[in-house]
Amino acid sequence: KSSWMARLKAGLSKTSTNLTTLFVGARIDEELYEELETALLMADAGVEATQFLLNSLKRRVKEQRLTDAAQVKTALRSLLTELLTPLQKPLVLGREQPLVLMIAGVNGAGKTTTIGKLAKHMQAHGQSVLLAAGDTFRAAAREQLTVWGERNNVTVIAQQSGDPAAVAFDAVNSARARKTDVVMVDTAGRLPTQLHLMDELKKIKRVTAKAMASAPHEVLLVIDGNTGQNALTQVQAFDDALGLTGLVVTKLDGTAKGGVLAAIAKVRPVPVYFIGIGEKIEDLQPFNAEDFVDALLS
Ligand code: GDP
Repeated sequence: KSSWMARLKAGLSKTSTNLTTLFVGARIDEELYEELETALLMADAGVEATQFLLNSLKRRVKEQRLTDAAQVKTALRSLLTELLTPLQKPLVLGREQPLVLMIAGVNGAGKTTTIGKLAKHMQAHGQSVLLAAGDTFRAAAREQLTVWGERNNVTVIAQQSGDPAAVAFDAVNSARARKTDVVMVDTAGRLPTQLHLMDELKKIKRVTAKAMASAPHEVLLVIDGNTGQNALTQVQAFDDALGLTGLVVTKLDGTAKGGVLAAIAKVRPVPVYFIGIGEKIEDLQPFNAEDFVDALLS
């Protein structure tokens, strides 16, 4: 635990410093709240979550008659934990065979990396994995994926050309025949402009259900944790179009701000199954609200 927490802490250190130093030796006054407001906004918490946290904090300070800034910090810590806890939900494996996951995300969010990490995670839990290379627009990516699959004991279903929905359909059927435990359907992150990404994704979802009525069991969106309001906009747009069941928030190491999780919790609380805290295959962790707040406000 210590090594990934260290990486998460390092990633969130700037936000953490901004959020914690303002309490040091401070008086509980309007100035403190203004500084906190600025720090939360700078951390990408967004207007709604920032206002919510400030108002709740002021109320709590009053109700509990807090007089010490350190106590206010502790109160903020529990408010933030309360806000983020509903996002904490495990991805339950093994409840269907195959369990079909559709994975969406805009290019660069970390989708390919995350699929690799997820495959490793699932294999570590005794699950066999099949991957449908639904991003038929990037030929190089498809070939890379096949090589990667061979090396990692993941069957990759790809098609030279054509319809990503058909690839997904074939993959689910193939998984049923082979009794594979998990199918991950990779999807495109961007399409040639004349096509509509959401329409294609909806079609993949629809056609997947033709191969297995209960599928896809999960529709995951991979978002870059550093893109703030942009990430939130993506969550809303993909959720409106597809009905998301979960998120993976990547790149929370490095120089992440971290507040975007508060914005998501307040505006569109889709569960965060995992966080990405590095480029390596093992750098994936189930999201835990307490640990996260610990890294943010230690
Ligand atoms: P895709 O276009 O969405 O498939 O994105 P990729 O998986 O190719 O990732 C884009 C870049 O982000 C690559 O350089 C990855 O190594 C990097 N990346 C992905 N996840 C993480 C993460 O959790 N932390 C860090 N630091 N980098 C990541």
